[in-house]
Amino acid sequence: MPSNLVIVYHRQPYEEVEVDGKTEFRENKSPNGIVPTLKSFFGRFESGAWVAWKQADDPANPEFDRVIEIEDAYGKYTVSRLPLTAEQVSSFYHVTSKEAFWPILHSFKERYNYDPVDWPTFREVNWAFAEAAANEAAEGAVVWVHDYNLWLVPGYLRTMRPDLKISFFHHTPFPSADMFNVLPWRKEILESLLTCDVVGFHIPRYANNFVSAARSLLDVAVTRREPVAPDLASEVTALSERSVPTELDFDGHKIIVQSSPVGVDTDYVESIAARPETAKRAAEIRADLGGAQMILSVGRTDYTKGGIEQLLSYERLLEARPDLRGKLRLMHVSVPANRNMTVYENIQTDIEQLAGRINGHFGSLEWQPIALISRAIPFDDLVAYYRAADVAWITPLADGMNLVCKEFCAARTDGDGVLVLSEFAGAAVEMGSALLTNPFSNRSMDSAIAQALDMEEAERRDRMAALHEIVRRHDVRFWAEDQMRALAPAKTEAETVP
Ligand code: UDP
Repeated sequence: MPSNLVIVYHRQPYEEVEVDGKTEFRENKSPNGIVPTLKSFFGRFESGAWVAWKQADDPANPEFDRVIEIEDAYGKYTVSRLPLTAEQVSSFYHVTSKEAFWPILHSFKERYNYDPVDWPTFREVNWAFAEAAANEAAEGAVVWVHDYNLWLVPGYLRTMRPDLKISFFHHTPFPSADMFNVLPWRKEILESLLTCDVVGFHIPRYANNFVSAARSLLDVAVTRREPVAPDLASEVTALSERSVPTELDFDGHKIIVQSSPVGVDTDYVESIAARPETAKRAAEIRADLGGAQMILSVGRTDYTKGGIEQLLSYERLLEARPDLRGKLRLMHVSVPANRNMTVYENIQTDIEQLAGRINGHFGSLEWQPIALISRAIPFDDLVAYYRAADVAWITPLADGMNLVCKEFCAARTDGDGVLVLSEFAGAAVEMGSALLTNPFSNRSMDSAIAQALDMEEAERRDRMAALHEIVRRHDVRFWAEDQMRALAPAKTEAETVP
């Protein structure tokens, strides 16, 4: 049955598990709640579909059903699994998206790798996603496309189906025009995005960067417009830079560009934090510290996450403050991405070596200044770490949003704990009550962590109350509602014809 809402997201909306030779579809344990939140929108439309890829040996004749019906807590919906070969996945996702787009999106020009990009394959895969979405969409349906690895989908979809309302959300930063224009495919990408009705970003700065990139290359007219969600837009504006949404006019087509910061499922995080098992686990973690203060750092192993810069700051702290030796423990969780990419392996090695150097230099039989954890911690356990920590030290060099810092504040229903956060995490726009730090400045990094460790309880509680409140208000549902609301003014062709 054709669907009124089609979500195009590279991951499938469930975990596929083999049990006794049979496939079971289980609720995706995505802790940040994006997948369940998106699925919850199916309930508001007559019918819904989800388009994702699934690896196949022979895409012309896949060993699985391309289109299946799922029924779960979110009702019935269709899942269209686009069969892709391992080579296609590697080319479109691991190479073009991660080696060429990712460094540019995060403003790391020197890491940009053009050579291995196979652009025809990127186009071919995006075309296939667009075809799968077009096949599922009812007349005038809303199609919501997610993230840069599907940049060309809107343009292809618009040519196939001019009747659709198309919305696109970027989960990463969007860089300045000078940076974006390094991509040789820049015009093709922008021309595709400018066929959307709504293009969404986390924060105003990324939206403004997109508008200036579009204006630097194409004949785009810009009109400021009233915010679609006045409360959010004014709050975010008050905390950050100039206001969006903006309306663009390109080739006779109107596009709303707006920002809404993605949030976490605070109810879910709070419910885990409230479990007796979580309190027990947090107490065990604290008991292991032997009275030391605990600093927690959590992130994927990626050059954008600033792991090296943070460890160097910690080393300087221990050097400068002998009084802190023996009284601190940094739990540094650096989860390697499962990609077999040399660049990520090198960072992992660098982190391990640096942590070893610091432990070797300052540690003793009784005390290790760093506990390096190089594997993913299950989310329930991670919440216990959030509860046990005195300080969360989250210092990416660039990060679209950063959900770890929001989860930390959501988990702190006890009202204590200090957040030290990089100014270059999108979340910094909302989280002005954190100790904001510049990870490119040693002085700023060093003073922020020292201030966090020395902070009085009253100040800690004041700051955490404000942070908890903002994370609660701007939760993941708030984000999704805001994006959906922005689609309302977008007219289908049929509606605009007199
Ligand atoms: N995460 C986890 N276990 C870990 C480390 C991270 O479950 O050991 C989760 C974390 O709770 C968060 C997500 O991974 O929901 C990371 O999201 P974030 O936006 O912070 O960073 P990303 O990896 O998307 O850049």
